[in-house]
Amino acid sequence: MPDDDRVYHYSAVLMGSPILLTLFSHNEALAAKAFRLIKQYEDLLTVNRADSEVMAINHAAGRHPVAVSRPVFELIRYAKAASLLGNSAFNLAIGPLVKRWRIGFQGDSVPPANEIQALLSLTNPTDVVLNEATSRVFLARPGMEIDLGAIAKGYIADRVRDFLRKEGETLGLINLGGNIQTLGSPEGGWTVGIKKPFGEADALIGSLHIENKSVVTSGTYERYFERDGKRYHHILNPRTGYPLDNELDSVTIISTDSIDGDLWTTLIYGLGVEKGCAALRARPDIEAVFVTKAHEIVCSSRRHFRFTLLDNRYRLTGNTV
Ligand code: AMP
Ligand code: MG
Repeated sequence: MPDDDRVYHYSAVLMGSPILLTLFSHNEALAAKAFRLIKQYEDLLTVNRADSEVMAINHAAGRHPVAVSRPVFELIRYAKAASLLGNSAFNLAIGPLVKRWRIGFQGDSVPPANEIQALLSLTNPTDVVLNEATSRVFLARPGMEIDLGAIAKGYIADRVRDFLRKEGETLGLINLGGNIQTLGSPEGGWTVGIKKPFGEADALIGSLHIENKSVVTSGTYERYFERDGKRYHHILNPRTGYPLDNELDSVTIISTDSIDGDLWTTLIYGLGVEKGCAALRARPDIEAVFVTKAHEIVCSSRRHFRFTLLDNRYRLTGNTV
């Protein structure tokens, strides 16, 4: 990205994350509108506060359906379909387990096994009942909770891109707490760093050069706690109720829509490198960069980005095209 006086950076803290908007015109009013849009979606989707449309559904679990706005309904429909994909590691009804573990929040703890078992019975995605005609959502069992935390930022990043385009912008980048979406491409494309897992805040192991794409990373280093020498991170296995255990430190997804990137980081976390690469053969529009605990970097393919290695303690392996 050209670092010259045509580039303007705007920042805010929303959704508990730093938000950075990069524009190629000085337009404070537009940036303010974009931040307001993010805030509006946060207010609809959050489960970290008592009030939101999603929380209204959760509060009514086992009691009655709740009518929600069309965008929220459609996002829940997308999330339910993704949860029902064969062997999916993503589950929109994972809420009760996320709330119980509290990973990344005050009061985290390892729940007793019998509690995890009991909570797992409240996470069946088919118990999220959708009424297309009335935009109503009903959680069939008391105690159920929808959690869209794994895809909300991606969804919102796409809405910001669409908004900027509608406002006549041709170039822009939105960084929603590490979830990146771009509009257009400046000369030379955009350069997006991949963080060193468990490294210093600004340490990078590589960079991606992209045009008109989204880049989303999920890593076990992002939110975790340690107890009795064991690390517990924030991406849960919806079948066991415990954090997903595999060879990955992080995975980065390059895609057109950020919601796909945000979803696929979770799906790929469940699959690991080999099965993840196999799954992506059916999705040429979505590409992954895996970073393993053994310091290997594996690209599923490299059709829509170039990769530059920045840390020689890591080894680049796998496909080059
Ligand atoms: P991300 O930062 O996009 O990887 O999303 C992580 C968040 O997704 C967690 O903080 C939880 O709120 C939620 N989450 C954790 N495990 C799952 C899962 N298996 N399926 C869906 N959401 C999950
Ligand atoms: Mg995600």
